[in-house]
Parts: sequence; C-alpha cells; structure tokens
Amino acid sequence: MMPATSDTPRAIRLRDPRTGQSDGVIEARSSSALADIARRARKAQVDWQALGFEGRIAVLRRFGQAVEAHRPEIAAALERDTGRRRIAGIEVGSLHGTLAGAAAAAGAFDAHDWIEGRASPHIRHSPQWAPYPLVGVISPWNFPFLLSMIDAIPALAAGCAVIVKPSEVTPRFVAPLTAAIAEVPELTDVLTFVPGDGATGQALVDLVDCVCFTGSVPTGRRVAIQGAGRLIPAFLELGGKDPLIVLEGADLDAAATAALRGAALSTGQACQSIERIYVARQAHDEFLERLTILADQVRLNWPDISQGDIGPIIFERQAEILRTQIEDARARGARILTGGEIENHGGGLWLRPTVIADVDHDMAVMREETFGPILPVMAFDDEAEAVRLANDGEYGLSGAVFAADIETAARIGRQIEAGAISLNDAALTTLFHEAGKQSFKSSGLGPSRMGADGLARFLRRKALIANTAPPLPIQVFSEEVLAV
Ligand code: NDP
Repeated sequence: MMPATSDTPRAIRLRDPRTGQSDGVIEARSSSALADIARRARKAQVDWQALGFEGRIAVLRRFGQAVEAHRPEIAAALERDTGRRRIAGIEVGSLHGTLAGAAAAAGAFDAHDWIEGRASPHIRHSPQWAPYPLVGVISPWNFPFLLSMIDAIPALAAGCAVIVKPSEVTPRFVAPLTAAIAEVPELTDVLTFVPGDGATGQALVDLVDCVCFTGSVPTGRRVAIQGAGRLIPAFLELGGKDPLIVLEGADLDAAATAALRGAALSTGQACQSIERIYVARQAHDEFLERLTILADQVRLNWPDISQGDIGPIIFERQAEILRTQIEDARARGARILTGGEIENHGGGLWLRPTVIADVDHDMAVMREETFGPILPVMAFDDEAEAVRLANDGEYGLSGAVFAADIETAARIGRQIEAGAISLNDAALTTLFHEAGKQSFKSSGLGPSRMGADGLARFLRRKALIANTAPPLPIQVFSEEVLAV
C-alpha cells in the first residue's frame, strides 16, 4: 500500500464477485485532491449550517427524490459491487428511512430558549448545538450504500459537511450516486464520495473534525488511535460474534427460522449476523434437525441473479477466512451437518448455510468473527451457563434470545454484554433502526448511530450564558471576605 502522504493517484482493480473477473479500474484520489475536496467542503459548510434544520431537511428530501430518480443505475451498480439484486434495491430504498429518522431527530434541536439559572436567577443560558464542520465517513464492503448513508445523512442534517470513503472492494455505486448528488446544488461540496483505498481512508482521518468508521476491529483501532492523536472523536462500528440463546420451552420452528435468517441473510456478510447458537440440552437435537432441514433449502442466486436466496462472497479474501474456520472446527472434532464447502461457480465463490455441531470455545468458529453463513450450535445445561458462554468473547455488538415468553427472554437478554438484544427473533437491528444502541467491548466506540443519538452525536453542546445583573467585581472573592 502506498503511504497516505503519497500524492500519486493509485489505480484500484475491481473484481466482479459473481465471476471473479476483473471488470474495471478506479483511481484512488491523491492526497492533494482529497485536501482540495476538504477545503471546498469546509467553505460550503458555512452556508449549509446557516440553512437551519428545516432548510437542510428540505434539501435532503430533494436528494431522496434525486436518488429515487437514479435508483435503477445506483441499484445496478450496487448489484455489480455485491453480486446480489434484491438487497441492492433494498439498500437504495433504505435511504427514505434514514432521511425520516434524521428529520424526526432534528426536531429536538430547534428550540434555543433562554433558561433561568437555579442558584443564580439573573444568570440564564441558551443551549446551542454546534455541528462538527467536517465529518469523514469510512464504510465497508458488505452494505456499501446503506453503511455510507446511515452516518452521512444524520451528519448532513446536523449541519456538517461530509466526505465518504467507501471500500475499494465495492466503489461502483459512487458514479451514479454522484450524478444524483449533482442534481441538488446545495449538496455540491457538502457531500462528496471519494473512491479510494486504505491509504485514502487514513488521509481522510487527518482532514476531518470527526470520523465515523464502520469496519473491522484492527482497522477501527488504527483509526481511533490516529483520531486520538488529533483529538477528534472516532465513532466506531466494528465486528461482532453475535450469540443466539434458545431456552427450553422456546418455539423451535420459530427459533430455527430466525437463526437461519439471522445468520445467512446477505450470505452472513453482516455485522449483526448470528454467529454462534447455544441451545438448552433438552431441545438441542430437535433444534439442530429443524435448522439443518431449513438450511438445506437455501438456494444460491446462481446462475440467475433474479433467483435464489443468497449471493456470492463479495470479498475474495473472506472466503479463505470461512474455509479456515470450517477446517479448524472439523479438525477439532466438529461435525458439519450441511454446507461446509466453498463452491466456485463461474469464477464467483459461494458458501451455502453451514450448520456445525459438537463445537466448543476452543474453535475459531466460536471465537473469531466469521462474516459468513456459518451456524455452529452448542448445548448448554442451565441459564447461567448460557449467559456465561454468550459473554465469553471479545465482541459485544448484539445478540438474541428465544424463550417460551418475552419476559423470560428479556431476563436473559439483560445479562448479555451487547448493545442490542433481539427477543424471540434474531438480528432485529437489520429491520429496526429506531432504538438507540451502542456497541459494547471490542465491537465499537462512541454514541449510538441508531435512534435520536444518530444525529445528536454530530452536534457539540455549546452554551450562551448571559448575566442580567452587573458583573461581580474581583473583590467578591478576596481573602478578606473569606476571613469574615
Ligand atoms: P475494513 O476494516 O477492512 O475496512 C473498512 C474501511 O476502512 C474500508 O473502506 C477500508 O478501505 C478502510 N480502511 C482500511 N485501512 C484504513 C486505514 N488505515 N485508515 C482508514 N481507513 C482504512 O473492514 P471491511 O471492509 O472488511 O468490512 C468488514 C468489517 O466491517 C467486519 O468486521 C464487519 O463486522 C464490520 N462491520 C461492522 C458494522 C457495524 O455496524 N458494527 C456493519 C458492517 C460491517 P479499503 O476497503 O479500500 O481498504
């Protein structure tokens, strides 16, 4: 990789995930081009902030319409980025929800009334919210559009200018999206997508006032350290190893259905994927049987992209991680009940949902992030053991509990060290973005990107403090007064 200070534009060769073939080249921005973009963004941000919440939301709504008008091209490019069609369309459609969430959250920051002091009624203050002028968003390859917008839109609504650096693995959607941005003149310069690689991301962190990073733990750690050196906040959304606990008395059909969707949706290439399953010993064999039957029915979206349930592995190197985890489990005595082989079809790589039994926490598949459709299942003897196993690991993104009733599931959910727990379902943060949730342990840093905090995190609290009485002279604090 070229050093971040390099001013040479770098060519990045693209790989089609459905064929494995190179299908184009993009050019990473040089550091001086990036610095120019940042300068323009800072200049434009002044007028953008001056529009106020209402004005900005109105512009963002027009942006939503422009994206809608360009939806076919953006979705088609995302399809080439990710090798899947339905989810590409859903990603573009998700912008409406993101815009609605930002509009709802913005309402809380409109009032700037004076508030009288409790101890000193003649001193009053007016709460202000000052946006970070320039926010950098660095996004991963698994949901290239959604995971860029989920931070960019609330930051824009807050009054920030935004530069997004998408993953070099999936940058094709940027060109049609940039055409949509160009149709909204107020956004020119305050929303810019810069294709690039890791060095581009690193250079971006040095130019912004706040960085939102979604990606792996090792890179997130580097971004946080770099941000700390500049004393800028780094909001990190990192990896996970989400557990699902199935208690005795749970509806096993429902649990197996949710487990499979939670683990295999998007070929498991989602941070909130279910990656390990703990089942009460009495229900273990029956659950495993139902899960395996359901997993066997999942179809690849190959050869026809308009048919099937799951797409290819987007990032070639991820296939090696999946293969290694499956081999490690097999070598340590686990049984692969279905799936288990990386399949090459027409040059693309696929993995069918892989159910694994007889696993334990010495196996990589139970400890390391998988990011693929692998469902290792382990029995537990009592609730305390289930909670201990669920909490045994470095991640704390989210989790899930199935029980005979919601209250029982909630009792266990409260004991799991993770930011969002789905009850009698799995991975509900895929479908529901209204609940505030942080990432625990190594899964992240900073306030919630979901719920109202998603916007509030881009606003610094500021106070105008007014004294309506004459200013106090320094003698009020003199030693003589104290001595009296
Ligand atoms: P990476 O950490 O490899 O990359 C994430 C982004 O960071 C990419 O745009 C990458 O660029 C860029 N980057 C790489 N090096 C640097 C650097 N030194 N400084 C700044 N930016 C850099 O993650 P992946 O793209 O592989 O994404 C998968 C990971 O994302 C998984 O761990 C997954 O769990 C996590 N994730 C977390 C989510 C959450 O909400 N918690 C949601 C979705 C995914 P490039 O790709 O061009 O190298």
